[in-house]
Amino acid sequence: MTNAPSRTELSALGEFGLIERLASRIVPIQPSTVKGIGDDAAIIDPQGLHQVITTDMLVEGVHFDLAYMPLKHLGYKAVVVNLSDVYAMNAEPRQIIVAVALSNRFPVEAVDELYEGMQLACANYGVDLVGGDTTSSTSGLVISITAIGAAKQEDIIYRSGARTNDLLVVSGDLGGAYMGLQVLEREKAVFKETGAQPDLHGHDYIIERQLKPEARKDIIELLRKMEVKPTSMIDISDGLASEALHLAHASGLGVRIFDDKIPIDPTTYSTARDFNLDPSTCALNGGEDYELLFTIALGDHEKVKGNPSITVIGHMADADRSVALVDKNGGEHALQAQGWDALLKRT
Ligand code: ADP
Ligand code: MG
Repeated sequence: MTNAPSRTELSALGEFGLIERLASRIVPIQPSTVKGIGDDAAIIDPQGLHQVITTDMLVEGVHFDLAYMPLKHLGYKAVVVNLSDVYAMNAEPRQIIVAVALSNRFPVEAVDELYEGMQLACANYGVDLVGGDTTSSTSGLVISITAIGAAKQEDIIYRSGARTNDLLVVSGDLGGAYMGLQVLEREKAVFKETGAQPDLHGHDYIIERQLKPEARKDIIELLRKMEVKPTSMIDISDGLASEALHLAHASGLGVRIFDDKIPIDPTTYSTARDFNLDPSTCALNGGEDYELLFTIALGDHEKVKGNPSITVIGHMADADRSVALVDKNGGEHALQAQGWDALLKRT
């Protein structure tokens, strides 16, 4: 006999019981958190700094599929995508506020798993969960997270600060999260048809990129250590092409990206080939990599040169506000931002 996992209905706890249960496990650590969960509102002391605030909403069936996304990973990722936006401003995330809409499909145990993932991300990045809202939904799960960060005014980096001839630099490698999603979608389709267990063998890296992305706090720290302050910065949620276009538009410039410089992991590359996809296209349009894309002054090139965590992939160009991909023969191809269209169902 197998032990069925225990299932406690949300109605058994009620909204207040659920909040109490969640709150009992959450202990603030940030000195800037004056009051966390438990009153009508949280209190944050900005400590004389500028506050950086951002929200992201994740909707079941649009942004995630619980068929292959474990709830703990979902909680982790939901936090990380918000922190990534705060780091992209060169700020330090300190607090998050979490709103969830749950249907009675989800037992208390599911909510526990979701919050375990969120709290793990909070612990890893030194962020406090200081409040939220809990409501019911007729079918799916909706998670909306607001992240609050802080930075000295002079440290904040906008999308609009790039100058002509600045170098375009990216952290990590690109296209992995997208290829991970392709593998997960394929295995889900096979499972539906044949009942065969997923074969994820050899795809660990790209699946982790999809299911458990990290925000590049380490890159922010690295740049600080190198004494390089990017002139503009953005995080890559929708794909390199789309984010490069955002930097170009905001800065009133054009961008040239060299195709053969785009960092692509060998697993991403070979999986793209298996799917008959062009690896560069996956890197340019795939999205969800949560790497940082930034520009630096030409004079800072020596400081970053040879660092394995970051790659110079191009430069800012004249004020034509276009993004061109330069092939290995020097041919230029105009890039459109294809990115994820949040209004199109992805799954
Ligand atoms: P109100 O009815 O005044 O909005 P709530 O009962 O929703 O108050 O919230 C009580 C406290 O619990 C608040 O501090 C709120 O931020 C927190 N809270 C509510 N829902 C959540 C949640 N899903 N996660 C974390 N904190 C929550
Ligand atoms: Mg409320």
